Amino acid sequence: MDEQTKAIRELLHPKDYTRALDLRDTSTGGVCVCGCEVFIALISFDEYNDISFYFLDGECADCGSMVTLPYPDPY
Ligand SMILES: [Zn+2]
Repeated sequence: MDEQTKAIRELLHPKDYTRALDLRDTSTGGVCVCGCEVFIALISFDEYNDISFYFLDGECADCGSMVTLPYPDPY
């Protein structure tokens, strides 16, 4: 396993949640309270490789806080 593969695995499966908060149902605006703009999410793609759907529950890639991911305004 090379270093890049190892880094991605550690990003997707963090072990340190000492800074994590439960921020679900609060608006993050796409930025976690720690300042990170990257989130871990469960997503699905359609046959055109566009995002088909994603779960609104996500996790901050830096601090591990649970967040409600932003979503498009349906109106
Ligand atoms: Zn965070």
